[in-house]
Amino acid sequence: MIPAAFDYVRAGSAEEAVSLLGQYGDDAKLLAGGHSLLPLMKLRLASPAVIIDVGRVRDLSYVRDAGDHVAIGALTRHCDVQRDPLLQAQVPLLPHVAGQVGDPQVRHRGTIGGSIAHGDPASDLPAAVLALGGSLVARGPSGERVIPAGSFFEGFLETALAPDEVLTEVRVPKMDGAGWSFQKFNRRAQDWAIVGVVAVGPQAGGGVALVNMASTPVRAGAVERAVAGGASPADAAASAAEGLDPPSDLNATPEFRRHLATVLTRRALEEVAAGRP
Ligand code: FAD
Repeated sequence: MIPAAFDYVRAGSAEEAVSLLGQYGDDAKLLAGGHSLLPLMKLRLASPAVIIDVGRVRDLSYVRDAGDHVAIGALTRHCDVQRDPLLQAQVPLLPHVAGQVGDPQVRHRGTIGGSIAHGDPASDLPAAVLALGGSLVARGPSGERVIPAGSFFEGFLETALAPDEVLTEVRVPKMDGAGWSFQKFNRRAQDWAIVGVVAVGPQAGGGVALVNMASTPVRAGAVERAVAGGASPADAAASAAEGLDPPSDLNATPEFRRHLATVLTRRALEEVAAGRP
């Protein structure tokens, strides 16, 4: 439970973090809220030689109206996403999902950028950003690029971020009053999702995304197509696990996860159809 020895440097800006990543290369890891990285280090599943602390880069903590979308700084903590009035009005799904992440301690330290960059399929916010059709802004040595959420998650804890890039911003389209739902199934309040489903209505693109059903957060494409073709929630939800190979662990077998995905997707689609909120 004690991490391997590491050096610690603090970055004062995104530019400085990019420069430090370039200097230390593959040996370095960024530290934001530390609530995913430090547990991995304590288990010795990650042993970076250098930690680059970006947790105090305050100009990457913001929520801004950007016309057709809301821009969220990568260092914005889950509790600030949860309480933000602009997000509550324009993208109400996201504050709700942020409020379901872990417990208050986790939400006061963890950041939306850390959650997305970590790319854990069991995390809630990556699935929400996927369902919304959001995008991610990465800054590297040669400038900025925008990556659609649909092509960001590449494998288990692997993303499209290059080793010398910093995730600086998360962009989510405004929902135009669309219905939405987040169904999170766990055995105890505040636990990670055994399976989760995020769904939004057609005005917000009709996305449906699944938590903990594959090696990455995933869109349930078959469900989205069925809904667009006029299928009932129950009929559309029947294909929730189509083509997916969910994990097996102490909480659930793959078969149980497939069953949960079907039940939770039906509930989510019914809630979306009812026009929440
Ligand atoms: P860190 O741990 O600091 O970093 C995580 C990874 O992302 C590292 O590899 C780091 O190098 C990289 N990184 C961080 N920021 C950037 C950036 N700006 N650019 C590029 N790379 C970056 N999550 C859920 O979704 N649902 C839950 O129910 C849940 N429960 C939890 C319960 C507990 C007890 C704990 C400890 C965590 C839980 N989490 C849960 C995870 C939590 O949300 C984390 O805060 C989050 O996943 C990671 O954010 P962070 O800011 O802590 O990132």
